[in-house]
Amino acid sequence: MNRIFLKSAVIAFASVAASLLLTLIVVPAMGFPISRTIWLTSTVCPLALTWIASASTFWQSDRLKCAHRELARAHAQLAAAHRRLSEKASRDNMTGMLNRESFFAALDGSRRKSDRGALLIIDADHFKMINDSFGHLTGDDALLLIASAIERGVRSGDVLGRIGGEEFGAFLVGATEQEAKRVAERIRREVELIRFRPADERTVPLTVSIGGITCGEDVAVSDLMRAADQRLYEAKHRGRNLSIIDRDISEAA
Ligand code: GH3
Ligand code: MG
Ligand code: MG
Repeated sequence: MNRIFLKSAVIAFASVAASLLLTLIVVPAMGFPISRTIWLTSTVCPLALTWIASASTFWQSDRLKCAHRELARAHAQLAAAHRRLSEKASRDNMTGMLNRESFFAALDGSRRKSDRGALLIIDADHFKMINDSFGHLTGDDALLLIASAIERGVRSGDVLGRIGGEEFGAFLVGATEQEAKRVAERIRREVELIRFRPADERTVPLTVSIGGITCGEDVAVSDLMRAADQRLYEAKHRGRNLSIIDRDISEAA
């Protein structure tokens, strides 16, 4: 407020000085004497009018700046909330991994950047039995342990998602067939090592089956999924707790 008062005072005094200067030039030039009334009007009028007018202008301009700052702050908060929301919407509530849609979107993006890599589909074995024996909530605990084991098994930079109830996807960016096999085995082993004790002292084994395919150029995500799914089906068929990783046909060509 003080600042506005002082700034408008400066303007008011400047306009008084300008008004006096003009009066001193114009009035004698017109052949009139400079009377006390002329002195008074050429000082008081600009002083009062300019002071009020500039104080009001400065005040309005300050309010506008304040409103602008508030708006910028609200905009930044909104952008941050939007980022948080879309991050939350892209995640699976239970495991914190990417959800199905976001996993495939990320997979699509990753494929565009680097043509090489491998897709693994990881499915918990006989999971219905866990639910049937110990209840859905205990099943959730087991699922979380499996998700953590998968996270420990992949490399940093790999894309992970929960693509179904007890089914996970991992895209191993830039992985060769050998690397993909190594990672798949590591995941399988990490799950196998879980000591899951839902009730009393008994340890209930948890295992996963993994189907995977490496990819060369120009393979659609849907074809990749189909190929990995076939290997998963084969792993299930061959007794579960197994990983089967193949090289994509188009890559071998
Ligand atoms: P398979 O080895 O052939 O995969 O057998 P499975 O029992 O794992 O497969 P199936 O498809 O028959 O059953 C999947 C089970 O996973 C049934 C479903 O209730 C359970 N499931 C899916 N999502 C969740 C979840 O979020 N929490 C719990 N507790 N169970 C889930
Ligand atoms: Mg299953
Ligand atoms: Mg399944």
